[in-house]
Amino acid sequence: MDRSVAWQRLAEPVDVVVVGGGASGLGAALEAASRGHRVALFEARDFAQGTSSRSTKLVHGGVRYLSQGDLGLVREALRERGRLLQNAPHVVGDLAFLVPAYDWWAGPYYGVGLKLYDVLAGKKHRFGKSALVDREEVQRRIPTIETQGLRGGVVYHDGQFDDARLAISLAHSAWDHGAALLNHAPVTRLLQEDGRIRGVVVRDEVSGQEREIRAKVVVNATGVWTDELRRMDSQTASAMVTPSQGVHLVLPRDFLPGDDALMVPRTDDGRVLFAIPWMGRTLVGTTDTPIDEVSVEPRPLEEEIRFLLDHAARYLSRDPSREDVLCVFAGLRPLVRRPREAGGQTSKVSRDHTVHVSAAGLVTVVGGKWTTYRKMGEDTINRAEATGGLEQRASVTANLPLHGAPDSGHLPHGRLGERGVLSVYGTDAAAIEALIAERPELGERLHPALPYLAAEVIWAVREELARTLDDVLSRRTRALLLDARASAEIATRVASLMAGELKQDAGWEAAQVEAYQALANACLLGPVPTPDAPIAAPV
Ligand SMILES: Cc1cc2nc3c(=O)[nH]c(=O)nc-3n(C[C@H](O)[C@H](O)[C@H](O)COP(=O)(O)OP(=O)(O)OC[C@H]3O[C@@H](n4cnc5c(N)ncnc54)[C@H](O)[C@@H]3O)c2cc1C
Repeated sequence: MDRSVAWQRLAEPVDVVVVGGGASGLGAALEAASRGHRVALFEARDFAQGTSSRSTKLVHGGVRYLSQGDLGLVREALRERGRLLQNAPHVVGDLAFLVPAYDWWAGPYYGVGLKLYDVLAGKKHRFGKSALVDREEVQRRIPTIETQGLRGGVVYHDGQFDDARLAISLAHSAWDHGAALLNHAPVTRLLQEDGRIRGVVVRDEVSGQEREIRAKVVVNATGVWTDELRRMDSQTASAMVTPSQGVHLVLPRDFLPGDDALMVPRTDDGRVLFAIPWMGRTLVGTTDTPIDEVSVEPRPLEEEIRFLLDHAARYLSRDPSREDVLCVFAGLRPLVRRPREAGGQTSKVSRDHTVHVSAAGLVTVVGGKWTTYRKMGEDTINRAEATGGLEQRASVTANLPLHGAPDSGHLPHGRLGERGVLSVYGTDAAAIEALIAERPELGERLHPALPYLAAEVIWAVREELARTLDDVLSRRTRALLLDARASAEIATRVASLMAGELKQDAGWEAAQVEAYQALANACLLGPVPTPDAPIAAPV
């Protein structure tokens, strides 16, 4: 992907403009481009910088929606879960979850529910099967589980993925089908003629230029910012989104050794808690807190941090402290607002998606979850074709391998991040290896506590539209999440590598490093790291 090529592609009129480069927008862009429509996508910041890089990173049917009796929603998500594993095996893996039972009834109760989960998944798309296990097996699988009162448990399977990398794979896939995609390019206005939306005004933050892009139909896929765009269409548009914040803590791997995730369906105050092995770390989440203010970098509330630390301590034998936290991050769920049903409680608001078409023809997609992005895209583009008077074409995405997916079927479904350093790039790994063959110093690890190589920085800038240090350290690599302090320590080196590629000067480097240090500091609960502290051990 390349910015100047994207602008060249935009010289021709487009059929569909998608606003927003998260799961919903990228899914819609790929859906439209793979049907042969001419597509542009504009993302105000970076791909997945909104909610889509801040998820629990599960490709799941939603075990907890089973208890709400929403079998249709679960079945649809399970179908999409299987498709994701099939079409993007380089960024999706199979993960076993253990539900511990501390009451006599819990094992059989969850066991029956999870058998239903297996049945709903169907034979074709089934991951591993669920099974009841005894106390010894629970301890063997999760050696750090709290054993007091433990009776046994249930094992079931779901998918796990790297959310920001899936976003890049989707962007690349849409690009391969001819779409023009730009990040750091906010849509500032909608073009209207005779009461119909005819395109957008977009500002390229890199060049500073503003351009009008005409289109037959505009798709609003802006997540928690949905209502802002709807009000560019009509000042009186009603609110469609109610945001709910979810927080995660990243802890060292030794809090949860072994291969299984821990899932507590109902904590004593009725919440769901996950502790998940992810990329050599332990991810603990999440919360569900209704909030009023939408911000680009949402801040975890002290109450949310306390809930996660306290409950992790309750189910794990070692109690995590604030100093153990490698990174804390928050995301905002764009839930569909249904005031009468909701009763002010976001946990009762629909997690399903909605496609809405305004009187002027703005097609808005909102809600859903990462797992169902493809189905959301399909439903959105069906409506967009009708709204924009485009030829109605059949969807091909159900069996479409995503960019980077190996040609010949599945990769071995190992755990994510433990299949080799470059495996998340899929078939692009060969090109990164070629970079290293040309310049062997690019094969060095950037930091002993992080799995990333200097070559990945060069690749991110050249091929993945990375423009800022945050783009590279938070989303092209996941350095920020894996270890915020270590990521801050490599900020200067990475900025220098980027500046060489982007032909930027020392002032740009310094500004990038300063902004990134502030971001990384905000992700730590312990003492604040000193900027550019020496790396702990020689590379
Ligand atoms: C804590 C948490 C955990 C979750 N866990 C899971 C999980 O494990 N599995 C799962 O399947 N789902 C999960 N989800 C749900 C999933 O992450 C979201 O449903 C999904 O990421 C929403 O994507 P989106 O594209 O709608 O929104 P976003 O990712 O926020 O994308 C919207 C984009 O629009 C851009 N934008 C806004 N205004 C403009 C403009 N004017 N011009 C251009 N661009 C604009 C924003 O910058 C943003 O990048 C979780 C969500 C949260 C919050």
